[in-house]
Amino acid sequence: MRGKLVAGNWKMNGNLASSQALLKAILPPLAALSGARCAVCAPFPYLAAVGQALRGSKVEFGAQDLCQFDDGAYTGGVSGAMLADIGCHFVIVGHSERRSVFGDSDEAVALKYEQALKHGLEPILCVGEQLAEREAGVTETVVARQLDAVIGRCGVQALGRGVIAYEPVWAIGTGKTATPQQAQDAHAFVRGRIATADRRLAEGLTILYGGSVKAGNAAQLFAMPDVDGGLIGGASLVADEFVAICRAAQGAQQTVRT
Ligand code: PEP
Repeated sequence: MRGKLVAGNWKMNGNLASSQALLKAILPPLAALSGARCAVCAPFPYLAAVGQALRGSKVEFGAQDLCQFDDGAYTGGVSGAMLADIGCHFVIVGHSERRSVFGDSDEAVALKYEQALKHGLEPILCVGEQLAEREAGVTETVVARQLDAVIGRCGVQALGRGVIAYEPVWAIGTGKTATPQQAQDAHAFVRGRIATADRRLAEGLTILYGGSVKAGNAAQLFAMPDVDGGLIGGASLVADEFVAICRAAQGAQQTVRT
């Protein structure tokens, strides 16, 4: 049975002191979390310190990006090997901000996914459509193209070693959340597309929803059959909100079991 996962994406926010304060606030309540996994994805300069603070806790940690190349002459790059070296578990790949602001192409995202697996990291592959694409009725075409780039490079089995996050771009940081049914439809599409290649793999795949998830809407989203948790931006910076979202994932997991 698939488990629930909540991953916080701190983006380019905070500093060393605020990161430590946030962890100090979330770790005691999250120590009691069971049945759901939880992680934070911190900015590069704080990753090692975050990893140290999380040692012995149930909270895992990850990076928000990695370089598509192996170690070498890539000024400013951070390799998968470096992330693995400091104990990172997850790495976000293809976040819409990387795609739209930094120009990550589908091909670059696929290379990054490959690098993550090569170094034993668990990639969180973000896919999702822009508002104009949803309005034009091409959501599934866009998501399929983004998935196919990774499948084409790494093979469909590689998806089983990572997590997919469906993040409609119009819902990220806007306060406009997809309805539970919109999220469910997109997640079912992703799972169904992968099932055409390998049904078992698709059934076991963790598919997160991301886009303005808050304590107030997490339970309804996580209750949908193909929504296996969330990738959380803004709300992951607010300790009470993040803990409540993790608890909503735990509640949804327990409902599935009973
Ligand atoms: C994100 O950054 O992946 C995200 C979903 O952001 P937010 O929760 O702020 O919409």
